[in-house]
Amino acid sequence: DAKLEDLPPGSLPRFRESERDDDVRYLLTKKLRVWCRLRDGQWDSGQVKSSSGENASVQLSDGSVVTVPTEELLPANPDILEGVDDLIQLSYLNEPSVLHNLQYRYSQDIIYSKAGPVLVAVNPFKDVQLYGNDFVTAYKEKLLDSPHVFAVADMAYNKMMTDQKDQSIIISGESGAGKTETAKIAMLYVAALGGGRDGLESEVLQTSCILEAFGNAKTTKNDNSSQFGKLISVHFNATGKICGAKIQTFLLEKQSRVVQLAQGERSYHIFYQLCSGAPSDLRERLRLKRACDYNYLNQSNCLEIHNVDDAQKFHILMGALNTVRICKEDQEHAFEMLAAVLWLGNISFLVTDNEKHIEVVADEAVINAASLIGCGEQDLMLALSTHKIQAGKDKVTKRLTLQQAIHARDTLAKFIYASLFDWLVEKINLLLAMGKHNSGRSISILDIYGFQSFEKNSFEQFCINYANERLQQHFNRHLFKLEQKEYELDGIDWTKVEFEDNQDRLDLFEKKPIGLISLLDEESNYPKATDLTFATKLKHHLNANHCFKGESGGAFRVRHYAGEVLYDTDGFVEKNRDTSHSETIQLVSSCTGRLPQYFASTLLKQNNKQCVATRFKGQLFKLMQQLESTRPHFIRCIKPNNKHIPGIFEKDLVLEQLRYSGVLEVVRISRCGYPTRMTHQEFTRRYGFLLGENNACQDPLSMSVAILQQFDILPEMYQVGYTKLYFRAGQMDALEDVRKQVL
Ligand code: ADP
Ligand code: MG
Repeated sequence: DAKLEDLPPGSLPRFRESERDDDVRYLLTKKLRVWCRLRDGQWDSGQVKSSSGENASVQLSDGSVVTVPTEELLPANPDILEGVDDLIQLSYLNEPSVLHNLQYRYSQDIIYSKAGPVLVAVNPFKDVQLYGNDFVTAYKEKLLDSPHVFAVADMAYNKMMTDQKDQSIIISGESGAGKTETAKIAMLYVAALGGGRDGLESEVLQTSCILEAFGNAKTTKNDNSSQFGKLISVHFNATGKICGAKIQTFLLEKQSRVVQLAQGERSYHIFYQLCSGAPSDLRERLRLKRACDYNYLNQSNCLEIHNVDDAQKFHILMGALNTVRICKEDQEHAFEMLAAVLWLGNISFLVTDNEKHIEVVADEAVINAASLIGCGEQDLMLALSTHKIQAGKDKVTKRLTLQQAIHARDTLAKFIYASLFDWLVEKINLLLAMGKHNSGRSISILDIYGFQSFEKNSFEQFCINYANERLQQHFNRHLFKLEQKEYELDGIDWTKVEFEDNQDRLDLFEKKPIGLISLLDEESNYPKATDLTFATKLKHHLNANHCFKGESGGAFRVRHYAGEVLYDTDGFVEKNRDTSHSETIQLVSSCTGRLPQYFASTLLKQNNKQCVATRFKGQLFKLMQQLESTRPHFIRCIKPNNKHIPGIFEKDLVLEQLRYSGVLEVVRISRCGYPTRMTHQEFTRRYGFLLGENNACQDPLSMSVAILQQFDILPEMYQVGYTKLYFRAGQMDALEDVRKQVL
């Protein structure tokens, strides 16, 4: 294994190709089709014309002939394997072959492919007509079996019904890859299968619209980017009809988006929807202005999204709120909180003396904000301009500086918004609650950020990437460990395939007391700590760990399974502490509004001693525990270009995502293993007739062996287990051919 130091920043573990040499020798002698790596690093297809030891001369697809070292050649697949449904059907599974197959399909709008047990979905960035009722019916009635989200959901539903086991559909990918759309498509199918007479399925479907309005925003990566991870569990009764649902959210970002925006990005959709869509009586009650009149919204030169009508979206949202049965009164309370947040952002301060102390400007912003949250104007002004500090036995009131006052105001706004979101999710959960928990009949759909590596990576990326290490371990465990276990249990001859385990990376994060999270918490509890003391502490304790490297200037590197990430500790300690200004909390507690009172009560219940990273770890453990008890189905979403336009498939970008999502590893393992399997009963039912009458009385295992011998299937192409037969990729096709000829 390469040492961390040896890897250039951002580099990823390489796809291993141990059998490559034999393949290349073979194709040189047979003069077969090859992939040829050109000077620019791109692969082009060609045909070997001649070879002389080190070099080969290859005719490329455009007719030109080049001479290249044989190391730059990889075998290409024969034409008949062009665009196969499942990557493991390919005879050669090298990177250019896998990429070519996906690109070939993508160019024909076939956006779904399988990689063994994993569904790969390449974002089309346009409407593809694949989700209508005709498609639902076709998958339900097994008239279609090409790779599709519907096929995954169908398998999950059927497994749930036959095995009485909870199922999960785990969707991952980077921002803009299509996770949220894919989750909705899966949900659509599940709702179609489990729809009953009481219309609960349409309520479940409408929750997406509400969650997106409050939890999504336009970013530079995605016009509808989810700012939270979510797990939606749909519960079914004994007859397979939906009987309830539950949403869990994982808020990774402390809603800083409410108060601060990057150029070209927007705050949460709901603010713009409310401002442009609210009917006049509501506008009056909320003293609402246009989006451009609010400082929290007008700071990023971006108030609209191309091709999106916020006013119309607001009407759709109102419909969804009604469908989910959130009552008019609660809706109004929620809108009041939104307007309060907007008015808070317009509150300004005056610097009064040369000590730079401030006073709150008593304008309409203060008046409106105070009345919307239900407190006195003076109380609000006091909370935003002073803080009490302990001096001996007494408390003295100190005036805030401008920076402190802005911080206090923004903290209040963020607190209200975060609480509103949590309240909304809880409300929906109450309305969709199912009768009995853990009936063994549920499908949970997970839509959560993928691995992130930017130029500057902060606390948020730290949490997200940690979560992805956990999810990756789940993926590995399931697909590889369980796979090998199955071979062992069924008594077949099998040499263990090595795969990259990431336990050491998880240890780096989780070990107590010397792990990234513990050390961060320890430092956050120490009043004098700064980001730099934290960085120094990490270096001191972790530099011996091969997944970690301390850098200068308070930075550190972590070698993640998906590649190396450079984190900047700037802001880590403060973000982890999650200090809510105590005056604002006191203020919220004293408010008369229904929602502020509810917010204050949940605050009291919360374990406030816990730091953010530890709380996140707790949430993640709970999530993993839930997932462990389900049978998982994996969907990997791929973003084919960063321009968000249809028809462009950038190979390097796709390759990187295939690597770090583990898809290439799955393909590799499947090649070494026996991806096709069938019980002896299934096998003899399908092919038993080939033996004629005499053998019908034998037991299924003996019959299986007899069939295999009769048809000269090479011994290295299959293994006979106690309960099942295991075939190398592609072997079933050969048997099917024989079957067709005989029939
Ligand atoms: P993510 O949740 O991974 O950040 P989204 O699911 O929000 O990404 O997808 C980003 C955008 O890509 C969507 O707004 C939509 O325009 C497009 N998109 C994704 N999946 C599909 C699909 N199956 N069909 C059509 N467009 C899609
Ligand atoms: Mg999303």
